[in-house]
Amino acid sequence: MAKKQFKSESKRLLDLMINSIYTHKEIFLRELISNASDAIDKLCFLSLTDDKVGLSREDFRVFIKLDKENRELIIEDNGIGMDKDDLDKNLGTIASSGSYRFKQENEKADDIDIIGQFGVGFYSAFMVADKVDVLTKKYGADSAYVWSSSGADGYTIREADKDSVGTVVRLHIKEDTDNEHYSEFLEQYRISELVKKYSDYIRYPIMMDMSRTKAKEGTEDSEKPEYETVTERETLNSMVPIWQRPRKDVTDEEYEEFYHNKFMAFDKPAKVITTSVEGVVTYKALLYIPSKTPFDYYTKDYKKGLQLYSSGVLIMENCEELLPEHFRFVKGVVDSQDFSLNISREVLQRDHQLKTVANTLEKKIKNELSSLLKKDRETYEGFFNEFGRQLKYGIVSDYGMHKDNLKDLLMFPSSNSDKLTTLSEYLDRMPEEQKYIYFATGENADSISKLPQTEPVLNKGFEILYCVQDIDEFTLQTLAEYNGKQFRSVDSDDLGIEPETPEEAPEDSSDALKFVRDVLGDRVSEVIASKKLVSHPVCMTAKGGISFEMEKYFNAMQPEAGMKAQRCLELNMNHKAVKAMKDLIGKDDEKAKKYAEIFYNQALLIAGLPIEDPSGYADLVCELM
Ligand code: ADP
Repeated sequence: MAKKQFKSESKRLLDLMINSIYTHKEIFLRELISNASDAIDKLCFLSLTDDKVGLSREDFRVFIKLDKENRELIIEDNGIGMDKDDLDKNLGTIASSGSYRFKQENEKADDIDIIGQFGVGFYSAFMVADKVDVLTKKYGADSAYVWSSSGADGYTIREADKDSVGTVVRLHIKEDTDNEHYSEFLEQYRISELVKKYSDYIRYPIMMDMSRTKAKEGTEDSEKPEYETVTERETLNSMVPIWQRPRKDVTDEEYEEFYHNKFMAFDKPAKVITTSVEGVVTYKALLYIPSKTPFDYYTKDYKKGLQLYSSGVLIMENCEELLPEHFRFVKGVVDSQDFSLNISREVLQRDHQLKTVANTLEKKIKNELSSLLKKDRETYEGFFNEFGRQLKYGIVSDYGMHKDNLKDLLMFPSSNSDKLTTLSEYLDRMPEEQKYIYFATGENADSISKLPQTEPVLNKGFEILYCVQDIDEFTLQTLAEYNGKQFRSVDSDDLGIEPETPEEAPEDSSDALKFVRDVLGDRVSEVIASKKLVSHPVCMTAKGGISFEMEKYFNAMQPEAGMKAQRCLELNMNHKAVKAMKDLIGKDDEKAKKYAEIFYNQALLIAGLPIEDPSGYADLVCELM
């Protein structure tokens, strides 16, 4: 029988797995049990509306069988099963190859254990088995099939006989070597230990035939007790979903383990949220706020949503409606007996009960984030560094509808210290006479702090928020004000500050300004005598509401639109260099023109803008030197 080859990507992952030494080999069991449980979820869900399934909630279970003699570990479920197509598609290729991509992108980080971190599902069986058979019959199908593979060299699919619907995964456990020990996976105690450790919360019984030697009944206390070996079918897991257990009874490790298993996450959650609500809708929820952005977070592969259960039956894998867009990083489950089980998914989506839950969850998440910010600043900052951008998008989106809800979760770098500040902390530090909340935009805090136009504000002892992400300015524009104080760019003409420099009479400088303007033509929209420059000769400010950072942002997004911020060249009329140029006008216009060119280019450089002719500029400077 012809062997089919694995899809190349799968083959590589398989090789990787078979040939690497994994400390976490044991997780194969968790992966296979999760698959069994998922398959049962699917049939269980069908059974709610389809009598033909002929099984009720109590009938579903996973069996584990051990056959030491033949070195076989068998995992059997009565879930939905697979047909030939499913086998080819699901087991011939890796369903979510995200883990492989991650590994590729992080090739250097060989110590990153992708198996432990992501789980690679079914394929992990090959870490402990040299041959795997999957005998399966799909619900509603007539024929059964068996999929067999000894690893990287491919697989076969044959028709087979099986009466009942479901799947039997048969692992032939590898022989022990000097370095690797596999036989433990054929030991009862080890398997039950692993089920307890990784799969305790699975909501269907995981059963195993356990044999033990014990004294025959009635003979325990006799002179000569008679011992016998009995086999009893035992349920290994407690089946209580973790979210149904009181928080005080669950360890942090258990919450983390669940998070990693269920959501393929590998970070330590920044916050675990449990909530139990009784009211219009009664529900329990277990939510996680990640501390690291999932590698696919900004791709379309990332699915927002919470798992929705109704009395322990999974009815929706990813219920998007339960989370607002700005909290799309949250992972978790919601379980409520109030959602009727056989409700169709379309109806559910319009369900106002769902809205009620979504609203209370949003408040809960917001409050938990606020309390994290207050009580564990370091963790919050870590979180904010990863997801702050998402919160800012939340403020900008939907015409600013969520801004009041989110504004207190924001943080910015500022001139105050190298730590991030919240807006309310900024306000607390504001001196009485300060009118506005100042902000400046640039590449990073360091380059912003050197912008000439920050000088008058800083000289006053006023603090400046540093906008270093492209979304920052939009965020502040959307907010417009915070607790009654307006935001004001340091580029603005009206900074609400008395200028330190005595204002030069306009007729004194107007000729010089016109001269520079003529030299520069439409490279600038304006040349003005600066009210804000103190020690620096020039600066370039943006007028008309679009800043240079916005210009860069838009041009990166839509280069063809040619968005341009209006460039306003500000001259410090009291600066020696500017005065020198002024004196040249009318006497040596050629030289004065060169001064104007240099001022212009300097202003561009300071603002972090590209200069049009760098070598021409360099020549000019050298010439005047
Ligand atoms: P994942 O579970 O992350 O999708 P796996 O490699 O573990 O990835 O499994 C691939 C797919 O194979 C599953 O999504 C499921 O459709 C199918 N599958 C695996 N095990 C079973 C099973 N016991 N019963 C039915 N389908 C299964």
